[in-house]
Amino acid sequence: MLAPRIVDGLIELVGGDGVIARGSAARVYECDGWTLERRVPEVVVLPRTPEEVAAVVRLLHRHGVAFVPRGAGTGLSGGCLPVAAPVMICTSRLRQIVSIDLANRRAVVEAGVVNLAVSRAVARHGLFYAPDPSSQSACTIGGNVAENSGGPHTLKYGVTTNHVLGLELVLPDGEVVTLGGAVEDVPGYDLRGLVIGAEGTMGLVTRATLRLTRTPEGVRTLLGVFATVDAACQAVSGIIAAGIVPAALEMMDQLMIAAVEAAFQVGLPTDAGAVLLIELDGAGAELDQQARAASDVCHAQGAREVRVARDEAERAALWKCRKRAFGAVGRLAPNYCTQDGVVPRTKVPDILRAIAGVAARHRLRIANVFHAGDGNIHPILLYDERDADEVRRVIAAGHEILRACVDLGGSITGEHGIGVEKINELPLLFAPQDLRAMQALRAAFDPEQRCNPGKIFPTPGACVEVTRPRRQVPA
Ligand SMILES: Cc1cc2nc3c(=O)[nH]c(=O)nc-3n(C[C@H](O)[C@H](O)[C@H](O)COP(=O)(O)OP(=O)(O)OC[C@H]3O[C@@H](n4cnc5c(N)ncnc54)[C@H](O)[C@@H]3O)c2cc1C
Repeated sequence: MLAPRIVDGLIELVGGDGVIARGSAARVYECDGWTLERRVPEVVVLPRTPEEVAAVVRLLHRHGVAFVPRGAGTGLSGGCLPVAAPVMICTSRLRQIVSIDLANRRAVVEAGVVNLAVSRAVARHGLFYAPDPSSQSACTIGGNVAENSGGPHTLKYGVTTNHVLGLELVLPDGEVVTLGGAVEDVPGYDLRGLVIGAEGTMGLVTRATLRLTRTPEGVRTLLGVFATVDAACQAVSGIIAAGIVPAALEMMDQLMIAAVEAAFQVGLPTDAGAVLLIELDGAGAELDQQARAASDVCHAQGAREVRVARDEAERAALWKCRKRAFGAVGRLAPNYCTQDGVVPRTKVPDILRAIAGVAARHRLRIANVFHAGDGNIHPILLYDERDADEVRRVIAAGHEILRACVDLGGSITGEHGIGVEKINELPLLFAPQDLRAMQALRAAFDPEQRCNPGKIFPTPGACVEVTRPRRQVPA
């Protein structure tokens, strides 16, 4: 239990309205999108400025108190679960877009700025911020940095690390450092790159310098309708083999199509085995030619229909289905758990077959919506949390799917991170000496493991056996 004088100290720093001590209000922060595990933080602190963040961290450091950073809590691996940290520092009030440099296509933003707000702020200048997680209307830049987030357009534009030039980081002792900068190449080790994707275990990001991208001249959005996911996968390979670099190649299977159609009624074919959302962007004349070529590939792979969005409204409707697919799943079951694995693109049909096998063995329904062009799968395991046996089967099935990804030459996460969810899977990819080397690197930033302890690596003393939900009855 946090000593009252520490809570008083926090209130002194950020004001009474910036501190939520454990109770019903703190329950809002009990989990992220990985809802299988919940833990109410003892105290949530909501600083208003980067300077307040640093002051809060210094105070916690003086008292030897661990903390967990949190953005919007949309993470899908329990990254901001307060496992061994009594204090949560939430960036939701760090919402300032500090500066926009149009000439150099840069923006400096605070960590709590919502991803989509950056693109909105620069849209009228013909620019946008390229990483576009499907959660982009809620997730924060700080969370994106911590998870090295991608999105449907990763295929062409890359992930967060390709669009963040510099970071301001509050180290776990409260010191403020700047990593990287406003220019492309900064000499010395790429510590910016190290912190991106470190899941908040090396300090708390307070500001980021982002690269802005020119809005493409034109966009074509197509929807290929296939009888089977195999045929749709062949079309993905065919499009890439044809030398086309789509901005996005996203797939949904039949269960997913049914859920999004029920939610949004845009006329998706609910009898199809799979649909492939293809987006091409670039200059006008070339685009039409690429759209024809992509359509030809789909037909050659047996597509029964290839729809082309005729205007922005039709394009938006298709993207709404894709980006809100997770939400639509609520119609299928009371709860769902989103998995995140990667396989080489050519192995997507194999992993989908493996997933179907896992579903059958564990008597579960699993819907699939994923970044097909990157081989980044997102099986969505449906369950009812009131059924303890079903919960156990979901967790076992998740483990099996990740193991199958590794067996196929892939990885246990494409973009959602390790968090608490995949701690036990990390040794599938790394030898003990690799893990020790990574932990030594982490210790250079956080020798006492006070910043987001109990994440990524199994740590002595922390509960890391994620074989059943780590539930806590809130006080
Ligand atoms: C519907 C839905 C769709 C999604 N789609 C995608 C997708 O397409 N691509 C994708 O990559 N992800 C996706 N995600 C996952 C999630 O949105 C991303 O991981 C996102 O970057 C998390 O941002 P957040 O602000 O919610 O972070 P949180 O969930 O609050 O935190 C995530 C991690 O970041 C750390 N953290 C947060 N802020 C900071 C900070 N300022 N400094 C240091 N560490 C920090 C936390 O400690 C935690 O470990 C999706 C999630 C949902 C619910």
